[in-house]
Amino acid sequence: MKFAVNLPRIGKLERKYVNDTIDSNWLSSNGYHTKIFEKKISKYLNRKYAIAVQSGTAAIHAALKACDITSKDAVITPNYSCISNLSCINQLNAKKIIVEIENETLGLDFKELKIAWKKYKPKVVQIVHVYGHPARDTLKILNFCKNKKIKVIEDASESLGAKIGKDKVGSFGDISVFSVRSEKMIGCGEGGVILTDSKRLFEKLKLICSRHAPFRDKNDPYWKKYYISGEGYNYLMPHLLGAVSRAQIEKFEKEILNKKINVGKVYRKIFRGSDQYQFVPKLIKNTKPVFWLNAIYLKNLSKSKIRNLGYYLQKKNIEVRSGFWPLNQLNFFKSFYVNSQKESVTDKIFEKILVLPSNSNLKEKDIKFIKKQIDFFLKKNL
Ligand SMILES: *Cc1c(COP(=O)(O)O)cnc(C)c1O
Repeated sequence: MKFAVNLPRIGKLERKYVNDTIDSNWLSSNGYHTKIFEKKISKYLNRKYAIAVQSGTAAIHAALKACDITSKDAVITPNYSCISNLSCINQLNAKKIIVEIENETLGLDFKELKIAWKKYKPKVVQIVHVYGHPARDTLKILNFCKNKKIKVIEDASESLGAKIGKDKVGSFGDISVFSVRSEKMIGCGEGGVILTDSKRLFEKLKLICSRHAPFRDKNDPYWKKYYISGEGYNYLMPHLLGAVSRAQIEKFEKEILNKKINVGKVYRKIFRGSDQYQFVPKLIKNTKPVFWLNAIYLKNLSKSKIRNLGYYLQKKNIEVRSGFWPLNQLNFFKSFYVNSQKESVTDKIFEKILVLPSNSNLKEKDIKFIKKQIDFFLKKNL
């Protein structure tokens, strides 16, 4: 596709660190580039601890596991999100409580969360920042959960660098997770990160991610290495990917973030002035989005028209995507759904949006070209 939804920015620095890694003859977990990556991303997000893992999904799974989620527990997840959140709750056989989102930033709706809490008494609430926009009700949800002693897992996979006030997303949850697969804000191929400020959770997470095999103890340098005290997974990030991740976090602010933000701003400038198009999520006070993806809401178009527009743009070499399929409509998962309103916000978003090319190479003329193609389709009523 000429205009891709997203593209990684990989270059000299990545090559240099990957070459180092090969020269070091250590390709496995706990490599030094990986450790530097963990230090840098935890510093960037103002968190005490970070663990680099093999995917965002692995990060979510380990986070739920560290919160001791079992089949006796309920976990709340927003209806509009990457499938990983729901499928990880499923993997732990816990009760899946899907809760409706608000229509501004497409985050978990605090009002609906309170209703869900009364009925299901969840042990964990997942919040997700969608398409690079901090979820509107984040602070209210955090406060509520703190009072009720509910753990919050914050999924900021799509929003590295976004802020609420002065604080970056990924700094709020008891545990926060990011995906660093190649099409996220930074990426190493397939990878993820788990962050926390709690030493207890960090140590637990580290065990869960390394087959629950303890690290060599200073007082006992070898004997207890294979004494396993719980169920663990082999989730730690290998060194080659740690090398790429380190390069990505080092160049993130100067070479990636500003370009992504600029693409988002140019979209909003070029599409301004027509009430045909609205961008979702909306811009709200006191938050700084990073525009991971730019999506337009086409309120006057039917679902089938929007689908045809999507096919039309694909044919013009403009890559587009649908929204996330509403999780409560995925019949494979037997879940509980909470929505006090007549309509589902997620449903409306899913039916009426089109995700447009958002890669950081896009220039103003490219975005003008994309708009021209959309205008043409609408004018000709194709
Ligand atoms: C991409 C993404 C994930 C999954 O991450 P992977 O690295 O693909 O496993 C989870 N949550 C959100 C919000 C995502 O966007």
